[in-house]
Amino acid sequence: MTAAAQINPPTRLLMGPGPINADPRVTRAMSAALVGQYDPSMTEYMNETMGLYREVFQTRNEATMLVDGTSRAGIEAALVSLVVPGQKVLVPVFGRFGLLLQEIGERVGADVVTIHRPWGEVFTPEEIEDALKEHRPDVVAMVQGDTSTTMNQPLEGLGELCHRYGALLYTDVTASIGGNTLLVDEWGIDAATAGLQKCLAGPSGSSPITLSERAVEVIRSRKHVEAGIASEDEAERGERIASNYFDLGMILDYWGPQRLNHHTEATSMLYAARECARLLGEEGMAEAVERHRVNGAAMAAGLDGLGLQRFGDQAHRMNNVVAVYIPEGLDGDAVRNGLLQNFGIEIGTSFGPLHGKVWRVGTMGYNARPDAVLTTLSAIESQLRLAGQSVVAGGGVGAALEIYADAGLR
Ligand SMILES: *Cc1c(COP(=O)(O)O)cnc(C)c1O
Repeated sequence: MTAAAQINPPTRLLMGPGPINADPRVTRAMSAALVGQYDPSMTEYMNETMGLYREVFQTRNEATMLVDGTSRAGIEAALVSLVVPGQKVLVPVFGRFGLLLQEIGERVGADVVTIHRPWGEVFTPEEIEDALKEHRPDVVAMVQGDTSTTMNQPLEGLGELCHRYGALLYTDVTASIGGNTLLVDEWGIDAATAGLQKCLAGPSGSSPITLSERAVEVIRSRKHVEAGIASEDEAERGERIASNYFDLGMILDYWGPQRLNHHTEATSMLYAARECARLLGEEGMAEAVERHRVNGAAMAAGLDGLGLQRFGDQAHRMNNVVAVYIPEGLDGDAVRNGLLQNFGIEIGTSFGPLHGKVWRVGTMGYNARPDAVLTTLSAIESQLRLAGQSVVAGGGVGAALEIYADAGLR
């Protein structure tokens, strides 16, 4: 037998586009004792978690719970449960995660139509309305914040717009929630899914979800399988939700008062998700967004101060992540690697059309703090110098401190 050593990961400061370092309160919650699935304490924790996430999503939706799995578990659950095969799904794509919605939509048997904006831009409501008119989709699926481009798609008013054309609005808010304003009820969003590893300050592995009454009605109208046993009739293709694990009807019955057995709730992840929401509840959602705004602005200004050029439409950038062009002549991966090896700091690379062109630096969740921002800027300056790039000494920290001074840091 090969002896694997006891796990002892290096200490890192994770300043990429996610995952980030979890808040120590969250990892402590995860080490709490396990209880049985129907232990009264467990069902109480589940109910509390539902209540806490209504606050996080800014919704009164009864159907607010967790899907067990990383963020894309929530995405798959939403799409497989909301979309009947053959129905039309419109995906406005402005980055990699829009392409993921397209792919998952196709896998669940939807007739997917896409509209596109160049990476680094977002859609106007008019562009979405034109597509609604032209395609008459059953569901519009779009990302709020796409970490691949750092853009934050405005969603205000889009729910009403979709409903006017008979479509439901689903949105993936994984990257944006907690760090950027999200008002599920006010904006008429029918389904939203998230993950913990961005601004919610947790590890990946749990996907909070909320569903409007409209969305629940659609899910309830689909044929359901009692206790996992399908009759031939129920097994008819197209009507029954084509996944057991991600059948939101069954997951609702599990979280609801009936508590019909489904999967075994991932207890430690529920503890984590509950603590993430408790942290935000203590801080306040508007206050958390403001913290991300200030620390994100300080990071962006600091990168400017190091002579780096920002990527994308800055008026629509997420608060919690910024992309900057890799200077001409520098090996982007070598600089990232140096940051990791020399300073224990991780920043992000990029995909698709931005591959090799930009670095992405996150300021999110537990790491949306002045000390993390200033440490990162100082390390980036050092690593740029080591790579032979000329930079203004202290230019990054200095520019960030101006933002912090304006925000009242003393
Ligand atoms: C980071 C991110 C995810 C992550 O999905 P996982 O399944 O948790 O890896 C999903 N959607 C968006 C928009 C993201 O930015």
